[in-house]
Amino acid sequence: MEKNTIMVVDDQTLNLYLLKDVLNEYKVILAKDGEQALKILEEEILPDLILLDILMPGMSGFEVIKIIKDNDRTRDIPVIFITGLNSAEDEEQGLNLGAMDYIVKPFNPAIVRARIRNTLKYRNQQKMLETMVHIDGLTEIPNRRNFDIILDREYKSAVRNKRWLSLIMIDVDQFKHYNDNYGHAKGDEALIRIAKTIKSCLKRPDDFVARYGGEEFAVILPDTDEGGGRKVAENIRQAINSLRIKHQKPEGDPWLTISLGSYSSMPNAFRKENSLIEKADACLYKAKHNGKNCTVCEQE
Ligand SMILES: [Mg+2]
Repeated sequence: MEKNTIMVVDDQTLNLYLLKDVLNEYKVILAKDGEQALKILEEEILPDLILLDILMPGMSGFEVIKIIKDNDRTRDIPVIFITGLNSAEDEEQGLNLGAMDYIVKPFNPAIVRARIRNTLKYRNQQKMLETMVHIDGLTEIPNRRNFDIILDREYKSAVRNKRWLSLIMIDVDQFKHYNDNYGHAKGDEALIRIAKTIKSCLKRPDDFVARYGGEEFAVILPDTDEGGGRKVAENIRQAINSLRIKHQKPEGDPWLTISLGSYSSMPNAFRKENSLIEKADACLYKAKHNGKNCTVCEQE
C-alpha cells in the first residue's frame, strides 16, 4: 500500500521537526500557520490526515478546522488537534468542531503514533468502502448508483454551460441464450471483457462508462453532439465485434455482439435527466428491432 500523507501545522519550527521525526513512516507536509496550510490544501494533493496546532499567530486552529470542514474537497480529511491548551473546554470545542482526536503537548511520541495509526486505519477503511459502493463487483467498472450521480452532475453542468451531452445505452445481444449455452461463469467472463473493451474505447478523462444492469452498459459523453456520440458508439460496437467471443445463436454472426442507442441533447433545466435515459433507451430498442449489432443515434 502507498504511504499515507500527513500534514502538520504548527507555528513552532521545533515542533514541526519533532513531529516530522515521530512520523517518519509517513509522507509529511509541513505548514507553519493556518494560511499556509489552507493554501497547500487548495493547490496540492490532499493529505490523509491533518495534525493541527491551535494557538498560532493569525488564524487559530479552531478557525482553520472550520474552513476545512466547510469545504467539500477537504471535509473528509480527519483532523487531530495537537496543542498546549489542556482544558476540558478547549478539548470539547475541538471535538465539536469535527476533530477526530485531541492530543495535549508536551506529547508522547508513541501515543501520537498510535493515535494517528488508529485514525488512518479508520479513514482508509472508509475510503475503501466509498470506492466499493460505487464499483460493480463483477466488472470493476462504476455501477448504477455511480452512474446516477455522474449523469446528474454532467446534466447540470451541460445546462449551466449550454453544452451538448450524449448518452449511449448498450445491451449485449441474445445474452440469455449465451448464458444458457455456455453457462454463467462464461457469461460473467464475457461481461468482464466487454466492460474492459468499452472502457478502452473512451479517450477523454470525463467520458464515463457504468454497468447499468445485468448485460446493459451506459456511456456518458460530456460536451458531445450526435456526430461525436455516433463515432464513439460505432467504435465500441466494432471493438466488441473484433473480440470474436464465440456465440452460436439462431440469428446473426456466430460471436457476441452488442446493440447501441445513442441520444444527444443540449439539456435545459426544464427537463429531467431521466428523459435522456428514456430517449437513449428508445434508440436502443430501435437498434434491436433493426436486427441487432447496430447503432441507432438521434438528437434533440
Ligand atoms: Mg502554537
